[in-house]
Amino acid sequence: MDSQLTDFDKKMIKRSIELAVANVEKGGEPFGAVLTKGQEVITEAVNEAYINNDITAHAEMQAIRQAGETLTQPRDADITIYASGKPCGMCMAAMLQAKISRIVFAADDELGEAYGWGTQPLYDNLKKDFGKQGIDVINCPDASSKDAFVAYANKHNA
Ligand SMILES: [Zn+2]
Repeated sequence: MDSQLTDFDKKMIKRSIELAVANVEKGGEPFGAVLTKGQEVITEAVNEAYINNDITAHAEMQAIRQAGETLTQPRDADITIYASGKPCGMCMAAMLQAKISRIVFAADDELGEAYGWGTQPLYDNLKKDFGKQGIDVINCPDASSKDAFVAYANKHNA
């Protein structure tokens, strides 16, 4: 795996860690991320969950949100997210949805867990069957359930 890393990768990882350290000073959690397209830095982000109690504001999520303001085609190829720590299940899902090409991270679970930041519990929970993950999930079909899908299809396939 290490042989696939370039000098640019190592520079971006160092930057993500610098961002994470600086974020702790501001009152945030110790995570930073850099999103690049090729060798161009599109955006830098940090965990901002401490602002407005937004628990989705992980560094990688913020990087994807911010990149959406810059890139007209965020699903272009050659997008890498550099993260100071191993991405959690939520961020991994977002990166899959965003079709990020590549993820490079610094701290692995072994290091993260030593400081209380392990990602494995969420990954383990996500492996359970839908509805068996600790939240009541109830399907409530309605006669109008398909209305929004029909509206979209009519608007875009006309
Ligand atoms: Zn995350």
